[in-house]
Amino acid sequence: MTEKPNASRRNCLIKLVQVAAAIPLAGVAAHAMAAKNDALRKSLQYQDTPKDGKDCKACAQFVPGASATAKGTCKIIPNDDEISPSGWCTAFVQKK
Ligand code: SF4
Repeated sequence: MTEKPNASRRNCLIKLVQVAAAIPLAGVAAHAMAAKNDALRKSLQYQDTPKDGKDCKACAQFVPGASATAKGTCKIIPNDDEISPSGWCTAFVQKK
């Protein structure tokens, strides 16, 4: 027995709908993983560049990302996983 043409077309349409439905979710998941705490960044005058030779990777509050150059997190800036190892803010504490 062979599959009826309508059944084959239906299966193809179902697969297309499944793929189309998954695309926006993949975008949302990627977006949900990256977050910035703009309010606290502003109050701490966070910047993505070092200041006076001091940067996040030398700060005791910095939690490194997957590599030396990857963005990480900061112990005092919650809900933010976009802290640059080369960044700086007024709460800098020299790592011992
Ligand atoms: Fe960077 Fe400031 Fe956090 Fe230290 S306290 S890791 S300087 S954002």
